[in-house]
Amino acid sequence: MRDAPPTPERLIQDIGAARPTTVADYMAAANAHYYATRDPLGAAGDFTTAPEISQMFGELIGLWIADLWTRAGRPPFRYVELGPGRGTLAADALRAASRFGCAPLGIHLVETSPALRAAQSARLAGAEHHDEVDALPGDAPLVIVANEFFDALPIHQYVRTATGWRERMVERRDGRLAPIAGSIPADDAIPPALCGQPEDTIVETAPVAAAIIQRCAFRLARQSGAMLTIDYGHAGPAAGDTLQAVKAHRFADPFANPGEADLTAHVDFTALAEAARPAGVAVSDLATQGDWLRRLGIDARLKTLTAAAPGRADELKGQRDRLVEADAMGDLFKLIALTAPGWPQPAGFTGDPA
Ligand code: SAH
Repeated sequence: MRDAPPTPERLIQDIGAARPTTVADYMAAANAHYYATRDPLGAAGDFTTAPEISQMFGELIGLWIADLWTRAGRPPFRYVELGPGRGTLAADALRAASRFGCAPLGIHLVETSPALRAAQSARLAGAEHHDEVDALPGDAPLVIVANEFFDALPIHQYVRTATGWRERMVERRDGRLAPIAGSIPADDAIPPALCGQPEDTIVETAPVAAAIIQRCAFRLARQSGAMLTIDYGHAGPAAGDTLQAVKAHRFADPFANPGEADLTAHVDFTALAEAARPAGVAVSDLATQGDWLRRLGIDARLKTLTAAAPGRADELKGQRDRLVEADAMGDLFKLIALTAPGWPQPAGFTGDPA
């Protein structure tokens, strides 16, 4: 059994009473409380993800899976999703894939939140839950999907001071939490390309995210399959403070109400690719969500849905634009795919190395 995540009051007390805590430990504890105690998705919640915007998103992922699986020789496989939210993406994807005869042996959800586990079970009959990637079955190829999962995992922050890089900490000051440079020397943690940055620069690393994608990559190398990762982020290395809090669809102070707002950070896709590659998997190029959805045929899907429901034409076009257009999610959100040795080139990517 997992320990219950600390309450926000406990978090503030612990940080204040003991000593400053790393941004990473703070983010992990705050998000554990946040996700364990609510369903944060949708208009009435704090944020809306792509599968909650439109069924087209999950359906095109289902098409991507069915196409890859067909060209891989239609092997028996297990569908895995990391942080599946309400299960909407999985439901849409597996419905679309089933039209091509593509049905998994089982649905496996890596999820820590009891509240979201309940929502997922209501949506996906027979789905099994797992605490971590290492608990997934080892008997068949895996097709793994992760949408807006890696951005919720804890990041370390480092700040350049006059005397070198320091790990950024959270401390209690006048009853409030605030970030400070801290006293832990951290020159060794900084990617070489970023070492020469000016004072006050912040650099982030995400070792938990790297470890998780590496576990997935080793599974793919051992039992075959593919992984599709979708998130907001960039090709690295890049400097800058990307830690953000969102509450009721607005940005908030990440340190103001621990455990009551969604804490995320931009995903460094280059770092994820570098963590996966040693396992021996093929890593795709990085595609923007807009390009990828267009290549997978979102405009054809929009046409079909609009023809079936002409009264919803404006609503459907609005959903498509939100997912695809550069001033909405189209450029900021990106995808990379991992494929096991012997698996075909995945659709939607150019084939050039990341
Ligand atoms: N993929 C969904 C939900 C994104 S929100 C969607 O696109 O709608 C982030 C998801 O990751 C939630 O399901 C949350 O409970 C889960 N999550 C966050 N941290 C986790 C962790 N350490 N291990 C497993 N799941 C986690």
